[in-house]
Amino acid sequence: MQNLPAVDIGKNRWQGIWVSKSDLVEFLRCKYRVYLAYIRGIPIGELKDNEAVRAIIERGRQFESSVISQMPFEEVEEGERVESLLSEEIILRTPQLIRNHELGLQGIPDLISVAKGKLYPIEIKLHKEVRWSDELELAFYWELLEPLRKRKLKPKPKGYILLNTGEIAEVSLTNYHFQSLSALVEQVREVKTSGAEPAISSECKLCTLRDECHRLVFDRGGLSPHSWNCTGKARAAGELRHNQYK
Ligand code: SF4
Repeated sequence: MQNLPAVDIGKNRWQGIWVSKSDLVEFLRCKYRVYLAYIRGIPIGELKDNEAVRAIIERGRQFESSVISQMPFEEVEEGERVESLLSEEIILRTPQLIRNHELGLQGIPDLISVAKGKLYPIEIKLHKEVRWSDELELAFYWELLEPLRKRKLKPKPKGYILLNTGEIAEVSLTNYHFQSLSALVEQVREVKTSGAEPAISSECKLCTLRDECHRLVFDRGGLSPHSWNCTGKARAAGELRHNQYK
């Protein structure tokens, strides 16, 4: 896919901290990694750059490509604006980063069911059942796209998850989704502003920051140097500490 300029939507210009869908997903895994990626200015993926994670990401990419190759969709071309395609009845794929300046949200939905301006987000997942985090992602993209939506249509919020079973699950989005999303976005901004402490969890096993966090947790008296393997008591200690930072 080619690199196209970002699409800036919404009134005014956002001056605060941007939050992406990757931030949200990562925040649910490890707040400290979100903070470090932000202050060091590097993509979160680079903090998980080892073979096991690369293999998982690659599997996801291959699945996404195979699903997309079987679907009829319109792709935004170089020099074309996503806005010019929003009256059509198409499935749209765009490599353009969309930045919502009203909410300070940015991201690239996998696909969008344009539905003549209703704009239903579609996410492609490698798993077999819809998860809560998938529903939050759809809520995120619903909000992201709002300034592009034809308001007079007043569509009921919803989106779709394409599962690896081939099923297309429709998800109705409720106030609870949007309230949960809004709280999460605020927590991500808070972490980016005020920082977070490393906390041991199963995520650490596949993280390049493992040694660095080990030292930090050990220095503050959290765990012994031999307890990093997260067995027995150490895992319990880690979970206890993890919960303290939730
Ligand atoms: S090692 Fe663990 S606590 Fe540290 S950044 Fe990675 S996942 Fe987070």
